[in-house]
Amino acid sequence: MSEPAVVIAGGGPTGLMLAGELALAGVDVAIVERRASQDLAGSRAGGLHSRTIEVLDQRGIADRFLAEGQIAQVAAFSGTPLDISDFPSRHPYGLGLWQNHIERILADWVDELAVPIYREREVTGFAQDDTGVTVSLSDGESLRAAYLVGCDGGRSLVRKAAGIAFPGWDPTVSNLIAEVELTEEPEWGTRTDDRGIHGLGRVEYEVRDGEVIYKDSGPVRVMVTEAEPGADREPTLQDLSEALISVYGTDYGIHSPIWISRFTDMTRQAASYREGRVLLAGDAAHVHYPVGGQGLNLGVQDAVNLGWKLAQVVRQTSPDSLLDTYQTERHPVAARVLRNTMAQVALRRSDARTKALSEVVSELLSMEEPRRRFAAMMSGLDTQYDLDKGHPLLGRRMPDLDLVTADGPLRVYSLLHDARPVALNLAALGSLDIAPWADRVRLVDADYTGPWELPALGSVTAPTGVLIRPDGYVAWVGEGSDQGLPDALTTWFGPPETTL
Ligand SMILES: Cc1cc2nc3c(=O)[nH]c(=O)nc-3n(C[C@H](O)[C@H](O)[C@H](O)COP(=O)(O)OP(=O)(O)OC[C@H]3O[C@@H](n4cnc5c(N)ncnc54)[C@H](O)[C@@H]3O)c2cc1C
Repeated sequence: MSEPAVVIAGGGPTGLMLAGELALAGVDVAIVERRASQDLAGSRAGGLHSRTIEVLDQRGIADRFLAEGQIAQVAAFSGTPLDISDFPSRHPYGLGLWQNHIERILADWVDELAVPIYREREVTGFAQDDTGVTVSLSDGESLRAAYLVGCDGGRSLVRKAAGIAFPGWDPTVSNLIAEVELTEEPEWGTRTDDRGIHGLGRVEYEVRDGEVIYKDSGPVRVMVTEAEPGADREPTLQDLSEALISVYGTDYGIHSPIWISRFTDMTRQAASYREGRVLLAGDAAHVHYPVGGQGLNLGVQDAVNLGWKLAQVVRQTSPDSLLDTYQTERHPVAARVLRNTMAQVALRRSDARTKALSEVVSELLSMEEPRRRFAAMMSGLDTQYDLDKGHPLLGRRMPDLDLVTADGPLRVYSLLHDARPVALNLAALGSLDIAPWADRVRLVDADYTGPWELPALGSVTAPTGVLIRPDGYVAWVGEGSDQGLPDALTTWFGPPETTL
């Protein structure tokens, strides 16, 4: 085995996205994955939110996902739909696409980028010193790397071995979920009772005029809320049959399970995302109830925040302290998701008072301003990293504007395909001088005369220049001069001469 600069434990959505980001930045990276192939036992995530589609668009691969999924208005808070079709985004919608397809498409991309995936072996431990990490594998081999990233899911061995605490809350709700065959026609759709939400639907579906239309045949996806949370053994067909009978009075002749699994509202977040040369991302760093469909999206965006920073530190163009901004930026984003999922679980309780509260919340969300705010939160479009105070664009996602350049029209996101930072000069030619960083940052002179609009915020003043990080977030805004630009370039992309 070679000596990669970065080893990623786990090739789920987070690990794959991170590998792609590092490979694009020219970093030698390898994934260690327990599974023999990308096949996934269980469908898990049902799709992507608007911001994740934008992030994939920034890499030029959104079309691969859009071609296979179903576009729909999927954002919701505790069952109240939140339409985002009026949001200023090129993708003002979500995408229904099962996680096994999302992972397959990501794995194909990572394969094109020639990232090795060492399959059918596990990371079993590691030892770190001043110069790197030695990663032990279940086949007796080891890998030496400068950094190890644990993208190894909620039960992360990397997190545990690093001694990182995982504080939070034990489960109050537990669901069985499965793909099975039925001999009888069931009650399709969802049912809510005193115990919680249950549902049956075919795995294959289409969205027509905003309605989910299930196929006439094929496996059925079943979800039942269990009477008691807290079981810790693997669920069986017998458990599922009993749970169905206790809710529906019948198990609809359930047989031939493709997979059966359990998920809960256990809510926990890693106290630290970093321990020296070891970092955590995705479910390894945070777990919560899947309401709102946010977990996979969060992991992909962790990866996109970490990838370019880790690449710069590995290439020694930025100091190691840049990695601390990964935790500063991403920990609060996940903490907010944990909070909103806990609130949604609480609102789903079936007692009369909670039902009344839920109706009041739903009524509030039907008002314009709350709808906009919550929709921007649930679709991931309102993320703002805490950079300097100033123009509202600072720390927020760059909109995918249609620019006019000397080489013709182009979209802002097309400038980010190679995951390199961009200084966009929208004033007179030569207004921005980034010469000392020209080896790292691309300068683009362009015209843009259209509106500047941000989701939930509305119109903002047109800047004369912006510095866009590889993850698509704005690191500096020019308002008539280049004041502050050299500082922002140094903070995010390292000092002009490599003096590290
Ligand atoms: C029922 C359900 C519905 C969901 N719906 C949604 C949704 O609609 N939208 C959404 O965004 N999210 C949803 N989620 C959450 C989503 O599935 C997870 O957040 C997502 O899979 C996290 O990705 P990950 O790569 O961080 O971790 P995982 O997907 O858990 O990947 C971890 C990988 O690491 C590997 N691994 C583990 N340990 C080791 C080791 N020691 N060595 C090597 N490899 C290892 C595993 O085999 C796996 O491939 C849902 C989850 C559930 C359970």
